[in-house]
Amino acid sequence: MPIGTGQILPPTPRLSAQRPHQVVLFLAFICFSDFVHLPMAQNGSTSSDEAVIEKHGDEIIRVCSYHRRDFDLVVIRSRPHEMQPVLASITTASKTKPQARFSWLASLPPELMSMVILQLDVRSVFRFRQVNSLARSIITDIREYRLVAKHGLEGLRGLLRAGLAQCHLLRDLYRALLEQSCASCGLFGCLLFLFTLERCCFSCLQSSERYHVIAQSTFSSLAKISRTRLSRFPGLSLRTVPGIYHMLEVPARRPKYLVSEFKATPVLLASDMIGDDTARKLKLRQGQSAHRFMAATAFPYYSLDSAKVDHGVSCKGCQIRFDRLRDDPTDRDRCFSQEGFLTHFPECLEALQLWTESREGTCPVDEPEFTRRCGYFKLLGPDGLPA
Ligand SMILES: [Zn+2]
Ligand SMILES: [Zn+2]
Repeated sequence: MPIGTGQILPPTPRLSAQRPHQVVLFLAFICFSDFVHLPMAQNGSTSSDEAVIEKHGDEIIRVCSYHRRDFDLVVIRSRPHEMQPVLASITTASKTKPQARFSWLASLPPELMSMVILQLDVRSVFRFRQVNSLARSIITDIREYRLVAKHGLEGLRGLLRAGLAQCHLLRDLYRALLEQSCASCGLFGCLLFLFTLERCCFSCLQSSERYHVIAQSTFSSLAKISRTRLSRFPGLSLRTVPGIYHMLEVPARRPKYLVSEFKATPVLLASDMIGDDTARKLKLRQGQSAHRFMAATAFPYYSLDSAKVDHGVSCKGCQIRFDRLRDDPTDRDRCFSQEGFLTHFPECLEALQLWTESREGTCPVDEPEFTRRCGYFKLLGPDGLPA
């Protein structure tokens, strides 16, 4: 294969680590291609891989990756047409000229004002913004607020609806927007866990002890603490909001309130409200995936360097492999940053094959029904959300 034609060579030294099917596929690949051995770069990809990725990065992402829409839909989500007016409202200053009544506010240096506002909890920020047109203008001018309002609207909305907005600072939500790694596994995370404002990936949301939640009635009964007493500790429980919360679109039973076991147990132990035995019982209490989905929302990553927002992508090649082998869905369910996907791409033989079929992105490719639909969720309304 001539160098620079858009073809990417499979990474030879990794063969021993490949699964048997990948070895077969690899051998087939080199039989039908004019294989040229090139020096390997440090990360295992060849120098020609890097050149192709640099030249065709955007096209490779378009052809070989897709966004898992079902990850967005199975957690707390809003309908885009309902949120458009909200977005316009919270990201623009008042049309009327700000009054001079609170002019001392306007006289503070913007850096100082920004520091103060970032230390406010999310609910207070919105309350202050509603005071008058000057306050609205001051808040809207703060860059961190604008970025959160524009790109992290689902997080803001989720916090407000779940009754957690008074428990988290605007600064922390902004920090989460700039963080791209799952707090549990370190891979890219496309979701936000509302109890702690931790970014997480779909897999960890379902399995990590950090995101263990229990219906409040069950928690109260196990811990022998009434809801009223529990509510004295802000941020340990949230109010659930309507949604589907099930990948197969079977509406899940929704408790009115949920408690974060991971967050609540140390607090209650420290307050001597529960003992070690109860803490163990709470930890071992089997939770439901659906309940975890009720405590998270989609949350993109914003890069200050590139000024771009990244919702995360998954690999079509990994889905093709999953369709063929029906084995562990971990690779299929992984979400990458766009940059991270371009690192995965040279290591995924099925994605490479898809790229080859597309002739540098100029021809349509035959992709799985699952990736065309962007995941589970078959019954979608006209706005792309569950009917
Ligand atoms: Zn994770
Ligand atoms: Zn892949």
